[in-house]
Amino acid sequence: MQNWLKCNSLTPDKANFNSLDNKHIMTRLVFLFFLFFSFGFFGQKTPTIIELLGHEVGAEFSRHHQVCTFYERLHVAFPEETVLLKYGETNEGRDLILFFIGSKALISNLNELQVKHLKRDPTALTPIVWLSYNVHGNESSATEASMETAYKLLTEHSTWLDETLVIIDPCLNPDGRDRYVNFYKQYETVQENIDPASIEHNEPWPGGRFNHYLFDLNRDWAWLTQVESQQRMMVYNKWMPHVHVDFHEQGYNEPYYFPPAAEPYHDIITSWQREFQERIGKNHSKYFDQKGWLYFSKEIFDLLYPSYGDTYPMYNGAIGMTYEQAGSGRAGKSVKTALGDTLTLRDRVIHHVTAGLSTIEVSIENKDELLKGYLGFNQERDYKYDYYILRGNAQRLDKLKEFLSKHEITFGSTRSDENLKAWSFNLGEVVDISIQENTDLILSTKQLKGPMIQVLFEPETFLSDSLTYDITAWSLPFAYGIDAYGVNGEVEVKQGPKSGEMKIDMPNCYAYLCKWNSMNSASFLQSILAKNIAVKVAEKAFEIKGQNFPVGTLVIPRGVNQSIAEFDDIIKSSANQTRVDIYPVASGYVSKGKDFGSSSYQEIYLPKVGVLSGGDLSPLNTGEIWHFFEKELDLPFRMFRISELNRRDNISDLDVIVLPEGQVSEMQLEKLRDWIDNGGRLLVFGEAAYNFVDDFEIAVKDVEFDYSASEREELSMLITGAIFNCELAEKSNSLIFGYERYHSLRQSAANFSLKNGKTLLSLSSNPKAVSGFVGYKAKENQSDAMILGEETYGKGTIVYFCDNPLFRGFWEHGKLLVANAIYFGND
Ligand SMILES: [Zn+2]
Repeated sequence: MQNWLKCNSLTPDKANFNSLDNKHIMTRLVFLFFLFFSFGFFGQKTPTIIELLGHEVGAEFSRHHQVCTFYERLHVAFPEETVLLKYGETNEGRDLILFFIGSKALISNLNELQVKHLKRDPTALTPIVWLSYNVHGNESSATEASMETAYKLLTEHSTWLDETLVIIDPCLNPDGRDRYVNFYKQYETVQENIDPASIEHNEPWPGGRFNHYLFDLNRDWAWLTQVESQQRMMVYNKWMPHVHVDFHEQGYNEPYYFPPAAEPYHDIITSWQREFQERIGKNHSKYFDQKGWLYFSKEIFDLLYPSYGDTYPMYNGAIGMTYEQAGSGRAGKSVKTALGDTLTLRDRVIHHVTAGLSTIEVSIENKDELLKGYLGFNQERDYKYDYYILRGNAQRLDKLKEFLSKHEITFGSTRSDENLKAWSFNLGEVVDISIQENTDLILSTKQLKGPMIQVLFEPETFLSDSLTYDITAWSLPFAYGIDAYGVNGEVEVKQGPKSGEMKIDMPNCYAYLCKWNSMNSASFLQSILAKNIAVKVAEKAFEIKGQNFPVGTLVIPRGVNQSIAEFDDIIKSSANQTRVDIYPVASGYVSKGKDFGSSSYQEIYLPKVGVLSGGDLSPLNTGEIWHFFEKELDLPFRMFRISELNRRDNISDLDVIVLPEGQVSEMQLEKLRDWIDNGGRLLVFGEAAYNFVDDFEIAVKDVEFDYSASEREELSMLITGAIFNCELAEKSNSLIFGYERYHSLRQSAANFSLKNGKTLLSLSSNPKAVSGFVGYKAKENQSDAMILGEETYGKGTIVYFCDNPLFRGFWEHGKLLVANAIYFGND
């Protein structure tokens, strides 16, 4: 049985009614019973929107539980034309739902359609249009518009439903949206205040745009770091729509935006996708012209970065689009615009409803072409490389395999040990390689997701235009810190052996060793520290019985852990859970280097960590740090508002404080200075380093900014996201334990340096990006730029991560740098 059939209706206990008491649940049940008899059983009268929602769409903001109830009631009123599917839950326990709409015949044969469509059977003749609303929580008209769109489809456009399946996701980000709606309802006044300066038009930190962990879900479609994206991708892959629309809002003074999109377009996008976007835009303009609504297209919103709700569907063969209505977190229920008009929530809803219905109409009118174009998307393609061979640290490769599986991308290893000519990502040249059986990961572009593989793996993305303000490079081998080779021609791919549970042969050994080379090592360390195991770290490399152990190797001696009865079991279960290799050794006597009793092995303590938040700090970066500690490292920490620094001394017990990107006041800086002076370790992310330029050892050289420059000239001064190879200094320094090389995703052109202190990672004297756009003036400013450095202040230290290594949670190879700074800061 298909998943969608199992839960084709939200029962009250499945739905998100956690906040309702029994009385409310009873009221709901009675109401559903009433609906069934009024509309379902007798089939007499279609309920009105007010009967379904409690108010007209746009008259009020609807909280998420009300939205779920609306769809549940709509399903009861149209049981044969709709399916309601709960596909997941958010971090805060809200339901993620999909609403399928089609004719009775279509809905009763949904299973058959799905099977045929996924098999790419040319007799599957129904276009699938998927409408996604409110990925940004405070762009709040979208979810409201979804309800009216669904209602109108069923009541006014039912003839369309013979020819298309419409899938509606009313809210991709319910946690963020309810955060916004709760805020607005708290401050809205009886007489609506249209003055944009009033409180209901100004959200407090962090705002409703982001999800629970303050991630931007419209930057997460490809990386799938968040539970909302992960659960959505599972069901998206089961439907693979022909058309996907992502409904947004922009500033409240802007006209409506719809496609065609702006340049640059990724070169994987076909000419029929471009043409079809134009056809859709023209259809919308017909309706917008009739009403006299202002709109624009072909500007600002480009199609390059692969992790958006328009590009991701596009790279999977659909027509992916972004629609933008004026509004967002400033607009409330009504707001006075710069032109002196009043923009109401109702206006915003109508525009989105019109664009949504027009999308469905144009998809039906051009359905033959749409179906044909979709099927042809990945046929007869000339891929840059037929295969990618990926090689390196086993744990990092495992992490990449997990990622590929989430996208239903298939991979394997190979039997042959052929010699091949291959493009080396790291060397930037063609080399001879031979395949290493069962350890190399082989990825063929000759599969359904071939275009997506090229987009994610190719070493350099072709830019048809540089005018894009998102990152221009993301090539995954650099992000994962693995070797990659691009190959053309035939390579035999077969499934590699599945990795089973690790067998650790444990005699009554003297110590266990664990090499420090991936985030798995950090998770292992965290896991055993949390169970009070005493651990040391090797500050010098050593050798035992011909086996080399580099700096950073964890040494866990039995002798100092004698009081822990479950010692061996803890090591074994933690190693299995975190999938690290453990080496038991019989003696503390090493064949090369220092014995385990030497002072070159430092004890590691579980640090007390604080994370600053609020004020003028970036919610996104705060969220990245929060998510990293909580979900990846499982490290307990204290997050607190930066304003608390002024109020009381609540930091003296902390070993490490993390400062996200953003601005710090004089007083806050003074507090931090005293704390560092007393032995604290401050981790400074990205451009938060500017706060320290005047009074500390860090200096900065900015690109000279020309404020009279046009938007296009400004590009010459920018790096918005390009990949650079770094130079490693002092390999024995604990901040770069586990690194042989590092590629940084550079997000700014600012050139930081230390007047005094240690620069651990930096660019070369004449650096060139290995991937991505760098403006020519920005390029001139990159010489010897610091990427990671440390200064000593009093008894403490400041660590500067000049490029945020936790950016959007997808730069896997950067994460160990942060772990190093957390655990090895006590030397
Ligand atoms: Zn948006």
